[in-house]
Amino acid sequence: MECHDYGLTRSTERKDLNLNPLQRGGILTTEARKALYEFSDGYSVCDYCGGRLDEISKPQIHGFLDDLASFLHTDHARTVHGAREGKFAVMHAICKPGDTIVIDGNAHYTTHVAAERCGLNMVEVPSSGYPEYRIDPEGYKGVLDELADKGEDVSLVLLTHVDGNYGNLTDAQKVARFAHEAGVPLLLNCAYSMGRMPVDANVIGADFVVGSGHKSMAASGPIGVLGVKDEWAEQVLRRSKMHEVKELEMLGCTSRGAPLATLMASFPAVVERTRHWDDEVQKTREFVAEMEKIGGVKQLGVKPKEHDLIRFETPVFDKIAEKHPRRGFFLYEELKKRKIVGIKHGQTKWFKCSVYGFSKEQINYIADSFVDIVEKYKDLV
Ligand SMILES: *Cc1c(COP(=O)(O)O)cnc(C)c1O
Repeated sequence: MECHDYGLTRSTERKDLNLNPLQRGGILTTEARKALYEFSDGYSVCDYCGGRLDEISKPQIHGFLDDLASFLHTDHARTVHGAREGKFAVMHAICKPGDTIVIDGNAHYTTHVAAERCGLNMVEVPSSGYPEYRIDPEGYKGVLDELADKGEDVSLVLLTHVDGNYGNLTDAQKVARFAHEAGVPLLLNCAYSMGRMPVDANVIGADFVVGSGHKSMAASGPIGVLGVKDEWAEQVLRRSKMHEVKELEMLGCTSRGAPLATLMASFPAVVERTRHWDDEVQKTREFVAEMEKIGGVKQLGVKPKEHDLIRFETPVFDKIAEKHPRRGFFLYEELKKRKIVGIKHGQTKWFKCSVYGFSKEQINYIADSFVDIVEKYKDLV
């Protein structure tokens, strides 16, 4: 056999302004870049392991997990490989195949595949549809009541705290109340919230929270976070019969190297940045206002924005694409010339973006660039 050149070069983040919402919260801190180097070898956190990853004291994984639990206001915290693995672990621990769970209409595909892998039936609380795609917490009450009337047991309620399509933030506290009134625990999917904005599982009343290190916690990943309330710990963190110290749902150990080291190294900065969440929301709203000055550009999802992920409908760029010699690729290419990336190649009808973590100057430059591009091709519209 032959090994090829795998094309492992990348200059995004060093040379360009990246608008991809998926990547804005996962940019490493300087501390994490150092940790990535120090812990780059396989099993690098295991030098002083006594059998339990979560109890290692050098590096201080144990202390870190305690801090993480206090940050989330949960009784227990573990690292997993991603938000999806956190959801799967909870579903697998507390549901049986054939059980019914209630989820929101904006749920991420990883919720669907985790549930499918566990053999669960999903009942959806629909969103309000175009243009807001709002999830009404009362919808959970309606669906739970209906299922109760039919005599159908529900073993888990799941809410996507902030969804990845519209960046809508849903009132989790209300959903928790409806879930608990029905006697069902709530799993809150915080992939887009934990590490960006404050998440207090205790105030919300969430029984489980999951987060994504590579999406919203400045970690290289793959790594996720699982927070568990005491009353569920015995089930979710239960131990193996054959290997007494090993936690079953964690398959003994989860992330055991650089992904975890980067999450830990960035943690103080992540805690600090959640205190400035209001500034990020404000910058997002100002950016939306600038973009909507372009004729035909419209923000979808709930208004005004309560999260940095923005979905724009952009018929003006689609019109240009119809007549432009580069067709749908023109937008990507015009942005790239201006050192802006992160909008999918060929996409013009609509796009998702985020200006999370950019300065006001950078945001103004980005908005001006979009205006410039429309101005340049105004004859094609
Ligand atoms: C990105 C995303 C996920 C997946 O996160 P991983 O950590 O990669 O598993 C799950 N849910 C939502 C809402 C997301 O946006």
